Amino acid sequence: MTESNVTAFKSTAPDRVCIIGAGPSGLVAARQLRYAGIPFDIYEKHSAVGGIWDPENEGSPIYRTCHFISSRYTSGFNGYPMPASFPDYPSWRHILGYIRDFAAKEGLDKLVQFNSRVEQAELQPDGSWLVTANGQARHYRALIAAPGVTWHPNVPKLAGQDRFTGEIRHSSTYYDSAEFSGKRVLIVGAGNSGVDIACDAANSAEAAFISFRRGYRFVPKHIFGVTLDVFSNYGGKPPAGFVLPEDLDQLLDGIVGDVTKLGIAKPDHKALESHPIVNDQIVHYLRHGDIKAKPDIARLEGRDAIFVDGTREAIDLIVLATGYDYRLPFLDESLFEWKDNHPSLYLNIFNRNVDSLYVVGFIEFADAAYRHFEAMAQLIAMDLSLAGAQKEEFRRMKREHRPDLRGGHKYIDTPRHATYVDIHTYCDILDEVRAKFSQPSLEERYGRFAT
Ligand SMILES: Cc1cc2nc3c(=O)[nH]c(=O)nc-3n(C[C@H](O)[C@H](O)[C@H](O)COP(=O)(O)OP(=O)(O)OC[C@H]3O[C@@H](n4cnc5c(N)ncnc54)[C@H](O)[C@@H]3O)c2cc1C
Repeated sequence: MTESNVTAFKSTAPDRVCIIGAGPSGLVAARQLRYAGIPFDIYEKHSAVGGIWDPENEGSPIYRTCHFISSRYTSGFNGYPMPASFPDYPSWRHILGYIRDFAAKEGLDKLVQFNSRVEQAELQPDGSWLVTANGQARHYRALIAAPGVTWHPNVPKLAGQDRFTGEIRHSSTYYDSAEFSGKRVLIVGAGNSGVDIACDAANSAEAAFISFRRGYRFVPKHIFGVTLDVFSNYGGKPPAGFVLPEDLDQLLDGIVGDVTKLGIAKPDHKALESHPIVNDQIVHYLRHGDIKAKPDIARLEGRDAIFVDGTREAIDLIVLATGYDYRLPFLDESLFEWKDNHPSLYLNIFNRNVDSLYVVGFIEFADAAYRHFEAMAQLIAMDLSLAGAQKEEFRRMKREHRPDLRGGHKYIDTPRHATYVDIHTYCDILDEVRAKFSQPSLEERYGRFAT
């Protein structure tokens, strides 16, 4: 990069903000900046908006049978409910169409620079940014990273895998159950993608197995015909004559039954202490013998997987549904403090040391995400608009304020739960911060969210 053309760019865009990513997070960040009158550019490496929900977006973890695990009643953007014509749990095609409709209705898609992967974003001594994409560098006053959290597969090494004669690949490379036809398939990992893909294998593989490192509960998608999230988060009531136990574990164990009979270990934690596995089918396939539960893998040997209980199975294909690492490869990652492979951020949004560096979407919770992503983006627009004493006060909070975003809830100690928050506590804290700086609520702007 020659000094001359860097200089050229410096003069052209000192007051603009750079948004990286045109998935749901980047789109709501753009909507909030526009609302605050802050000029911005959005870079997207793919040729269209939609984030992971477009399987054409290289590296997307979406598979043909993928559906939302939050329902259409709760999952929409603020002020833009999902169509009533959608099923309770929309498929990826519905979601992709919905995100694109939202972007078009808001005129955001026209603001995106497509096919523009940000290769590098360099912090400048004055706190501004030099952002390079397609070999071109531009200068920005602040950077909002919204690149998503499911693009960098976590690929654990399995003991003996060098001598394994079968194939091993990460779930992000999986798309269609035809890939399992005629094979003995082992799914490693029981997150939501893992159990979904295991159900595909149960349907189409020669033989199917799923390896669990620990016992989990499976949460049905409907309770008394009402979607789980509406029932549990928005005051669902059982039909007359039904009395439900207060304790969620008791309720789930009552509804689903004893999973240890299916060869799964007794859950070693309460249901709300890990991200819910929202799936009705896996228990069905286990109870029909279409898939077998296995404990953790001890080692691989030739064509066999040997499990910690000493049993072994001949396997042709191992699918590692072992999640993703949070990465920001276009940044100097030492700008962040890292915990369990996750950047530690104030409110999971603000870099505590670099005032002009923001992240949206690097958070986990048990609720639909888009309304909450926008609440995060609203605080970014607020910070970019603050000046004087208020700016100083918020800078101080970034450095010092360390609220418990979990509201005293305990979560299992896995990388996935490193940035896990209790969503009700989190929303209350964001509301407090917003009110402290006299920002209107998003409901005042987009209308009350109703299920
Ligand atoms: C199987 C599965 C099921 C899910 N179910 C639900 C659900 O039911 N409800 C829910 O609310 N959420 C669900 N999610 C969470 C999902 O992450 C969000 O729905 C949403 O897609 C996250 O949006 P995002 O914009 O943060 O990230 P992404 O959708 O990942 O979008 C990020 C965008 O950034 C772009 N990008 C990345 N790096 C660069 C770069 N260097 N330069 C330019 N562009 C870049 C990418 O191309 C992408 O378009 C699910 C996720 C998965 C994987």
